Amino acid sequence: MEIYLDANATTPVLPQARDAAMAAMAEDFGNPSSIHSTGLKARALMDGVRARARRVLGAGTGSLLFLSGATEGIQTAVLSALSALRHAPARPDLLLYGATEHKAVPEAIRHWNALLGLNLQVLAIPVDRDGRHDLAWLREHAPRAGLVCTMAANNETGVISDLDGIEAALAGSPALWMVDGVQALGKLPLRLAERRIDYAPFSGHKLYAPKGIGLLYVRDGVPFTPLLAGGGQEGSLRSGTENMSGIAALGAVLAALEDGRTFRDHATLVAFRDHLADALQHAFPGLVFNAPPELSLPTTLSFAVPGISSKLLLDLFDAAELRVSGGSACSAAKAAPSYVLEAMGLPAWQTASAVRLSFGPVADQAFIDEACARIRICGESLRESCLDPTAPGQALPADGLTRFIVDGACCYLLADAVSRRAVVVDPLPELTERLAQWLLCQDYALAAVLDTHSHGDHASSAPALRAAVQQPRGDADDLGWPRGADAIALGAQVLTRLAVPGHTQDSTAYLLRDPQGLRLAFVGDTVMPGALGRSDFEQSAPQQYGASLRRLAQTVGLHALLLPGHDYDDRFASTLAVESVAQPLLGDVLSGRVNDAAFAAAKAVLEQGLALTEYQTVACGARVDSGCALVASELSLAALTQMTRQHPGLLLVDVREPYEQRLGQAPELGVTVQREAVALSGLPNALARWTALPAETPVVFFCRSGNRSAQAARALRRLGHEQAWSLSGGLALWPRLAVAADAAFAI
Ligand code: PLP
Repeated sequence: MEIYLDANATTPVLPQARDAAMAAMAEDFGNPSSIHSTGLKARALMDGVRARARRVLGAGTGSLLFLSGATEGIQTAVLSALSALRHAPARPDLLLYGATEHKAVPEAIRHWNALLGLNLQVLAIPVDRDGRHDLAWLREHAPRAGLVCTMAANNETGVISDLDGIEAALAGSPALWMVDGVQALGKLPLRLAERRIDYAPFSGHKLYAPKGIGLLYVRDGVPFTPLLAGGGQEGSLRSGTENMSGIAALGAVLAALEDGRTFRDHATLVAFRDHLADALQHAFPGLVFNAPPELSLPTTLSFAVPGISSKLLLDLFDAAELRVSGGSACSAAKAAPSYVLEAMGLPAWQTASAVRLSFGPVADQAFIDEACARIRICGESLRESCLDPTAPGQALPADGLTRFIVDGACCYLLADAVSRRAVVVDPLPELTERLAQWLLCQDYALAAVLDTHSHGDHASSAPALRAAVQQPRGDADDLGWPRGADAIALGAQVLTRLAVPGHTQDSTAYLLRDPQGLRLAFVGDTVMPGALGRSDFEQSAPQQYGASLRRLAQTVGLHALLLPGHDYDDRFASTLAVESVAQPLLGDVLSGRVNDAAFAAAKAVLEQGLALTEYQTVACGARVDSGCALVASELSLAALTQMTRQHPGLLLVDVREPYEQRLGQAPELGVTVQREAVALSGLPNALARWTALPAETPVVFFCRSGNRSAQAARALRRLGHEQAWSLSGGLALWPRLAVAADAAFAI
């Protein structure tokens, strides 16, 4: 069963709200503007809901408009205020909004400021470390402001604004004041009319009403310009036939708020939050909360775990069927750091690792208990993977190859569970802490830290990694190879090296063999999928590049898996055969059709005047047909089921990470298929085996959402196995049991 802990993004619809909406659609379906009885019934319903909203919000004699949601309410308020400023006798010169406002607010201000030709200066009101507005700053700027927008409570952190303090700071200011009440509805008493608030937008779907219904409070007598003109509904303040099913549903929610039986009281919600906070701290001992609980809504927890990205935590929670979000839902799809936490001045690691957990006020104890139990399981799974740098591990021994990627640069960790030794190839400074944590937690000896070449502009991070695990280098050369050694043994596997000068004079490939023969080669920047490394640096050896490529081909063959030092578009690996087709120049130098001097000259022309990133793009863009373009390879669940009948040998591969796989397996398909689990970070372990399968054998990858599986399918296709597929939508679209949306009601 899913546990939905993302109530600040949206909530399910309360059963009584669903019933009310159904009745408004089926029986009381009238148009409130019609004057016959059916219409009059609809109007009475609408008036009743408005009256309730007036009581709940303490709206006094102000207007309350039904509209589509907060975004429309914000537009209407901003348009109204800015239209009035156009004609103000003494035009103020500032428009102010809180630095942590929902994007709808600054975007609406900028949009209407430009469209109305006002071009006033738009400034963000700074917030302090607790996320609260800088009132001294506001006091100083308020006299010059025409509009001030401050949310009642923040959607990402739950931080509650000091509305009384803001009101005091606005004393004597001509500014109109908008308070975004979205996250406060049903959780904080707003007493709108008692304050000098001029506009306050709300969205029904943040409190158990459906999407598409919202409210805008407008203080009596303040400027108003309709956003929508037309049939004159809502007293001509917002035209368009009203969303009666939404209004009826919102009415049911407001009734529940008034009767006091459906929603938990503040103290109960605080106890629930504390319970969740304890579970989180127990599961992730180094965890820090991003906002002080005493200043926040009792239903929101924002936190970060040092050394663990929000993406990793989201995948982990999702595997445990706990739906949480990274920062806010709008930005969750992007990996961008949270601007809310940045505005609060939190350190970069915290803004990049934020996770938000939010529940609604109908939550009950059983729901919270289940959420806590799952959080604990998530912590255990992470510890078993040695991935929580703040928690001591009880690791399961790890084996094989793991690939890490940071801004296109690849680093590989090769581990052997029998000898408990590991080798790191091309260490990256960003990974030092994570790798060290992993090695210490697994208690593996670091057999070597190898670079595939030296870097002109920076030193290797190998010494830092060795220092972090307190394993000195011993007698090794500049690239980390033990002096005098022909090979490095890692259990049954053996690493040897091959000089491949070109990209740099010291460029070296490391070849990995097991008892069956050559498994793969780490080739650094000598061969990258879709490109060759540059050879126009001071430390390059362009004239030797061609001979190096031929030496590599003679030693490993055309079909050995090559693991690159850079991978800009998730290709994972390549082979000389694949690259010879993709890069004709490479094919030509391997076959001797182009001599080494001509090869170096042609490369120089390609590289001339291009920045490194441009070089990658050009190198890639030149061969759109040969692998740079994304290959459509998605399958629906229905198509997969059908394919399993046609191809009994079909292989279904779970590419989620082990800490996710441990938390939950994919449901059965109803047909027997071969299954495998190979995490995306461990894909190179299996690529060669899959490319050796009969050409007609489908390999279908799945993950949580379809992103990682699409990468895996593309990588395998590019290596020549055309029957590589990704299950679109991933586990998220796999039929499952009901969602428990923070309450005892079923959805
Ligand atoms: N304001 C806040 C504080 C919000 O949390 C949201 C939604 O996330 C909005 C405004 C926009 O609401 P809607 O998307 O329902 O229009």
